Amino acid sequence: MAVTERPRILSTVSEPGPAGGTVKFRFGLEDGAAVETVAVPMFGGTYTACVSSQVGCARLCAFCETGTAGLSRNLAAAEIVGQVEAAAEALGIRFRNVVFMGMGEPLDNPEGVFGALEVLRDPRGLSYAQERITVCTAGHVEGIRRLGALGLRRLNLSVSLAAARDELRDRLMPINRIWPLADLAAALEAYPRRRNFAFGVNYCLIPGLNDLPEDLDAVAAFTVRIGRSLVNVIPYNPGRHPIGRTPSEPEIEAFLAGLAARGVFVRRRIEKGRSLMAACGQLGGGSAGNPGKSESPTAPESPVEPPLASQAS
Ligand code: SF4
Repeated sequence: MAVTERPRILSTVSEPGPAGGTVKFRFGLEDGAAVETVAVPMFGGTYTACVSSQVGCARLCAFCETGTAGLSRNLAAAEIVGQVEAAAEALGIRFRNVVFMGMGEPLDNPEGVFGALEVLRDPRGLSYAQERITVCTAGHVEGIRRLGALGLRRLNLSVSLAAARDELRDRLMPINRIWPLADLAAALEAYPRRRNFAFGVNYCLIPGLNDLPEDLDAVAAFTVRIGRSLVNVIPYNPGRHPIGRTPSEPEIEAFLAGLAARGVFVRRRIEKGRSLMAACGQLGGGSAGNPGKSESPTAPESPVEPPLASQAS
């Protein structure tokens, strides 16, 4: 599909937080589809753009709202880059980082995502250094190999894990039935890395499901196998189809401590945008009906106020 229009803002919602406000944009596309993009505040007054790469998603991860309605279509490179441009313009900022962690499995859309990476990096485009860009995959082994073959050794790569035992990961992330953990670990081991590179390993923590002692052991073994990595523990955000509950603070602390005791570099991802359905695993879940279809276009809330904490710092 030839794209001639930049994504237009259908609606925005924002939520204050300690580092500034999280802003979720709902963008309408030329064919009437809609995607969501989140401006995530970072300490220091900067923002990260969390962009979508697909309308919906085919991967059906059990903890994720995006996949519940399936995949409508891939986004074109221009529609991905357009999210960054339009959100930055609305906020009056330049994003410091761009992460492919919105709607969709980025490596299911290599044409759009690899094209967007080119434009994002090009000095005549948005001129982002590779280090400022992160591709996050659910474990698309073939895509990891193709991404590695691009030779972008300074690009960041993270993987959603959610479980490091095949029998559990098969249930939580069906992509594991295609590429089980051994295949994923082998692809990550072979991924060309710069010095000091560390994989991001995102772990959506669901109490009673993937926080057992055997899970701690399995995550530790997985990280030993893939090499330098940082595990981001993300407390589960129940959406419209909950498969569990949000972990309590003691449960989160116990899991973090359990991993640290096993020699794993681990940190807790601060939840941002939960009330907006803008947190991890919640995009595409904030509106009724098919998340791939837009509402009637409405006038954008213009201008979108940059959050106060951002302005002050
Ligand atoms: S977590 Fe990512 S890959 Fe899995 S269903 Fe959601 S958007 Fe798709």
